[in-house]
Amino acid sequence: MKLIVLKINALALTALLAACSETEQKQVTEQIPAQPLQLQPLYLESGKKAVSVALADAVKPLKRSPVELTNSDFASPLSDVKYVVLKRGQTVTGLLNKFGFKAREVYLLAEALDGFINLDKLQAGAAIAVNKQPRSAQISLAGEYAERIDAFYENGVWQVSKNRVPTRIEVSEHAVQINHSLYGNAAEADVPGDVINAALLALSHFIDFQRQVYQGNRFEVVFERTLVTQDEELFAHQQTPLQPTYLRFKNEEDDLRLYRYDESFYLEDGRLAESFLLKTPLNGARLSSHYGQRKHPVLGYTRMHKGIDFGAPEGTPIMAAGRGTIKRADWYGSYGNAVIIEHADGYETLYAHLNGFAETLAKGGKVKQGEVIGYLGNTGLSQARHLHYEVYRHGRTVNPLNLKKLSSERLQGESLANFIAHVASLQERTTRLANLAGGDSSTYAEGLTAEAK
Ligand SMILES: [Zn+2]
Repeated sequence: MKLIVLKINALALTALLAACSETEQKQVTEQIPAQPLQLQPLYLESGKKAVSVALADAVKPLKRSPVELTNSDFASPLSDVKYVVLKRGQTVTGLLNKFGFKAREVYLLAEALDGFINLDKLQAGAAIAVNKQPRSAQISLAGEYAERIDAFYENGVWQVSKNRVPTRIEVSEHAVQINHSLYGNAAEADVPGDVINAALLALSHFIDFQRQVYQGNRFEVVFERTLVTQDEELFAHQQTPLQPTYLRFKNEEDDLRLYRYDESFYLEDGRLAESFLLKTPLNGARLSSHYGQRKHPVLGYTRMHKGIDFGAPEGTPIMAAGRGTIKRADWYGSYGNAVIIEHADGYETLYAHLNGFAETLAKGGKVKQGEVIGYLGNTGLSQARHLHYEVYRHGRTVNPLNLKKLSSERLQGESLANFIAHVASLQERTTRLANLAGGDSSTYAEGLTAEAK
């Protein structure tokens, strides 16, 4: 049974207004629309099992960084417009003609929108807000999420501006009991796929999901969704940005907690929660051959497979597994086109059978983790297109999947202090989440945002 309680979160509102009034009081009073956005009902929604309704009162908004409000951040809601949706195979010109726009006017509109949005590239399903008067007109389009492009027509001229639509943040907390797989069980518990993928990526620096996940393990996630609070129809076709902010994975060996801060995940003590070297230096790949003894597909006899193989489409970008110096990037016998990178601590990584190298790559050059170094191919002694990936420590190969070593990067000084305060502010939330039964979840609106870009 689903339990939904409508509730105004007065705390969120008070905190927001208090935060704003200190710095930007004058502007805020001018800009918050007359229909206060905080009248939006804020709600708490529980998952499978009923969560105490008292929880709604316990939810305190996070302290967010002070926001800077400017005129362009808050557009007033669209009114007197008609929403139309671009159909498959339909052109914007064709659509606007129906409203009485002349071809010339649409041509000028497309020109005026240059630099904001490309009308020719508008996807089917995109919404357009139109207000056509005999001597004037208004067209509004969705740019990025919560970004509204407004075009006004008068005296033969289009004036275009980009405006920000107010948003609120919706926070969801999920506790997941793992029975078969983290992905499967999290999906069953209504955690969105994008959030699960981001979680798997972040946790894969610590957990081998093919071997270290067992029935009874627990996964907890907090994620945020940013939602527009006006002009919803204009943004309905867009994917709402989702962001996991806290992850916990608990099995018999580990109780891992990761906190998102400044676009990366960190451990509680401020260490960057990323591997020193990536286990998988490409995206969207399938592990096609493991490390260890195996019968060689071309040579036919059993020998040590010193690396791991990943199958992926030809041309898939290959990334540097970690920060380092290019030792070679050239033809390397049976390895075909290969790159070797030297890293700290006696580590080296090798990437073989590439169909080509990144343009700027040169021997002796420095690369960062995740930087593209080449493209997947089928060169050298290779039967089918794949990446052969080897990791060496002091000249001896190691299994890339066993890499556990964390990056040595750590927050320092003021950043570290801010991060520790952030973790402390989350404590009430993470403690509550830790007490949720597996399968339970709660969702609530946290407040308004006006994050200037
Ligand atoms: Zn191989």
